[in-house]
Formats: sequence, C-alpha cells, structure tokens
Amino acid sequence: MEKRLLDILVCPLCKSSLQHDQKNNELICKADKLAYPIKDGIPVMLANDARSLSPEEIQAL
Ligand SMILES: [Zn+2]
Repeated sequence: MEKRLLDILVCPLCKSSLQHDQKNNELICKADKLAYPIKDGIPVMLANDARSLSPEEIQAL
C-alpha cells in the first residue's frame, strides 16, 4: 500500500492516524483497538467492518 495514502487516512471514529499491519494487511487504530480491512488494495474505513484486536495483538503494537 502506498505510504502517501496511509498518511491521509484516519480512523473514522477518533480521527487519529492509523498503523499499517503488513502481515494481516489491515489498518490499525490503537486508540479504538480496531483493525480495518484492506480489500483489493482499498482500505475499508467502516467501523462496522472493522474487527476488534485481541489483547495479544494490542500488546504487540
Ligand atoms: Zn480510532
């Protein structure tokens, strides 16, 4: 995913910047503990489609 695209994307809930998880190809919001999926190279910035991070995943951030 393009770095520039990542720079302009923010969490739809808290408006904070996101972290790209290259392994799972997701965008992580640390504040909300949510992971937004990237489908066909396009980030899906919908809270309904995001999954909650497990405590282990949060610790690894
Ligand atoms: Zn957030």
